[in-house]
Amino acid sequence: NISNVPCGGCGAFIHCKDASIPGYIPSEIFKTTEKHQAQRLESLVCQRCFFLKEHNIALQVRVSPDDYPKILASINPRKSLVLLTVDLTDFPCSIWPGIADIFGPKTPIVLVGNKIDLLPKDTNRYLTHIKRQLLEQIKLTGFGTANITDTVLVSAKTGYGIEDLINTLQRQWSIKNVYLVGCTNVGKSSLFNSLLASDYCKHQVSDLIQRATISHWPGTTLNLLKFPVARASHYRLYYRSARLFETNKRLVAEEERRKEALQQHNTPENATLMGRIERTFPQTFHTNEPEDTFTVHRQTHGLDPGLREHHPDFASSRWCYDTPGVVHPDQMLDLLTLDELVLALPKELIRPETFCVRPGSSLFIAGLARLDYIEGPGSVRLTVFRSNELPVTVCEIEKADEVYAGCLGTELFRVPIDEGDRLGKWPGLEAGRRFTVKGVHERFSTKDVVLSNAGWVAISCYFDECIFQGWTPGKRGIHVRDS
Ligand code: GDP
Repeated sequence: NISNVPCGGCGAFIHCKDASIPGYIPSEIFKTTEKHQAQRLESLVCQRCFFLKEHNIALQVRVSPDDYPKILASINPRKSLVLLTVDLTDFPCSIWPGIADIFGPKTPIVLVGNKIDLLPKDTNRYLTHIKRQLLEQIKLTGFGTANITDTVLVSAKTGYGIEDLINTLQRQWSIKNVYLVGCTNVGKSSLFNSLLASDYCKHQVSDLIQRATISHWPGTTLNLLKFPVARASHYRLYYRSARLFETNKRLVAEEERRKEALQQHNTPENATLMGRIERTFPQTFHTNEPEDTFTVHRQTHGLDPGLREHHPDFASSRWCYDTPGVVHPDQMLDLLTLDELVLALPKELIRPETFCVRPGSSLFIAGLARLDYIEGPGSVRLTVFRSNELPVTVCEIEKADEVYAGCLGTELFRVPIDEGDRLGKWPGLEAGRRFTVKGVHERFSTKDVVLSNAGWVAISCYFDECIFQGWTPGKRGIHVRDS
């Protein structure tokens, strides 16, 4: 029994359940430790702290919502670029409100929609639409004046879109440092590790351990990771220049040889030939690059790529920083236990399920959220997107409270899990906002109702006015967006 044993690094309780939750330690390691009694329980550190200390792999640090704006405020807005990461299965709930105010309107923000691999496959056709939706939602959360320069959809897990993202960042090379910012669970650490392993990291050592550096966050006790950023155009320029240099060296040698041969036979025809050679091989090299750039490469790097690491021209003064995460008040991550998080957060491709419901119906996503179709001229189709582990239950609104009370803690709802006095502590569901949906066509979803971390429901109908109401614990994270 290792419950209530804190990690010696971050203080999170040690567990073996899910790598994404602070305090995780692989059960194999724990068993070995137990067997050999090599370490006392108290001196155990979780996997994240161990990786940070021993291997310099990004760890995720969570800070309180009160401290979060203060911590981010230490980022210099003038010469920084913010990589704002959003979980595509959890937006707008994973967008920290007012984050644009912290950085101000001058800081360029690249919006990164992560976990695209979890969205159903046919979304490939709607990538532009998803980007637009993401932008619209982000503007609603107070980003009206923010300087969002690009939107990129990626999967830190599969690597989809990472190259696109790096190209986007390279285009903004004039900006000094890059900060990876985002709420808890958006995949910030995964993205940091993907960038660290890519060409974007200047340290092209084969060993990832040496690529990142631990950096101390000013004004806090936090240790986070940073890595030096490589400038792609520099490398391209370097290789191009190196190739040119080689060609020119060959041409110059040939020119010298021919001149020498001609001087030995100083005839009028040869003098004309000499003139032609001078024109063909002028003293300056044919290059489109500015002369000084080429000279730098020629003189300092020659043809040895290894040298570039040591030259001041390549010594990166630009860094990519990890930043701490925070739980958004719209998220319900902090209400769930470890076992419940494992079930509630989507881990594999989401399989949407469609239900045809009459007015006066309630739809539950496990015991986490409820959507009531209160009033409308006829049946509508509700397509539910949530973790495949969460069951969906439909009943009449009049019986909804009774059904909820009856199913809570049973396998019909699955989450929350009935163990100990868990159900006694579960806050239950609260009725949130009511809203009206105007349908366009039965076949097309018009609106999505986001129900915090439980998932979202796409509404398809062709009626003019259908009234809905969302329910979540503490009315958290109920939003309506275009489908
Ligand atoms: P952080 O709290 O923002 O640092 O997020 P993590 O990087 O720890 O990721 C949180 C969870 O999301 C982990 O279980 C990751 O495996 C998962 N995750 C991160 N990025 C992706 C992704 O692109 N696709 C999928 N399917 N899962 C991801």
